[in-house]
Amino acid sequence: MPWIFSEPISRLTRNFPVSKDHGVVGDHARFRRFLVASRQHRSYTYSQNILPAVTRRVVFSSSDLGRARRAIQSAAESLFSVLLPADCRVCQSPLTTISSLPVCLTCLQKITPLEGVLCSVCGEKLFGRQLEGEAGPLCGLCRHAAPSFRRAVAYGAYEGALRDLLHLFKYQQVRPAGPVLAKLIAQAVPGLGLPDSLLVVPVPLWPGKRQARGFNQAEELARSFVRSCPGTGIQLDTTSLVRRRETASQTGLTRHQRRANLRGAFAVNRPDRVRGSTILVIDDVMTTGTTAGECARVLLRAGAGEVFVATVARATKEVAIGLTMAAAASVGGTQGHA
Ligand SMILES: [Zn+2]
Ligand SMILES: [Zn+2]
Repeated sequence: MPWIFSEPISRLTRNFPVSKDHGVVGDHARFRRFLVASRQHRSYTYSQNILPAVTRRVVFSSSDLGRARRAIQSAAESLFSVLLPADCRVCQSPLTTISSLPVCLTCLQKITPLEGVLCSVCGEKLFGRQLEGEAGPLCGLCRHAAPSFRRAVAYGAYEGALRDLLHLFKYQQVRPAGPVLAKLIAQAVPGLGLPDSLLVVPVPLWPGKRQARGFNQAEELARSFVRSCPGTGIQLDTTSLVRRRETASQTGLTRHQRRANLRGAFAVNRPDRVRGSTILVIDDVMTTGTTAGECARVLLRAGAGEVFVATVARATKEVAIGLTMAAAASVGGTQGHA
């Protein structure tokens, strides 16, 4: 049975060393080996399907066109369901719909907002007896010393499918996850009670790290977020806040160590722009809030009016402790706890 490949594959087959006499690639196993050997099996999809060899010229009315479009869509989707290499990158089950995001609906539906009682300042999940502040419940840390930012929100907990999606985006270059994650930020932000006019500032990445990763995840999220609020007084500002030096990973450090690690790491190089403004700092994940707090402190010192923080996910205390313990174990137990 001949194999006919969808568009990206037909481009690819130009480089595939088989006879083109019949216009198709004849050896499925060999082609698959070629894809794997050239590390392209994850990027390409193909199907064992016979397409009409003869093109017929047909004149469509507009309702025919609508029907044709739906027929093509459903044919394409059923085609996709027999495709071999395109699996959900979270649960590995085969994908049944066409999407630039290689994550199945079931996994996406597992991403749910944070629930329960949250600290009214930093968004930390609270357990047991709560302390009430003016604006609502407060965690022990915010009661002890208020952070520099006015309030922080996150969409969900940094665990399960949301953590997997963030990892795909940040470490595996699955860029189509960006707008999906930015939408989650947009769902969380109304909880901050922000004014109409706002500067959106992503947490900057050290240029070397940015180059290694290919992009700054916080900046991509901020950009998508701002794009989703057209015609408003919400402006993206990627240049006012800069990272002045490289910092060691915060993973596994105590709050004090994190603060010391970040001292002097950020600076405002355009104080005229931030002066008097309300600023929303955007990042992918908030763990202890030290990074966001340091950004806020530097922005306020440069004259910002108020600073709020929004992230996709929040490492709740249990998760943060787990992360810290895992990191401590991996470095021989020399690090402290969160
Ligand atoms: Zn899945
Ligand atoms: Zn708090």
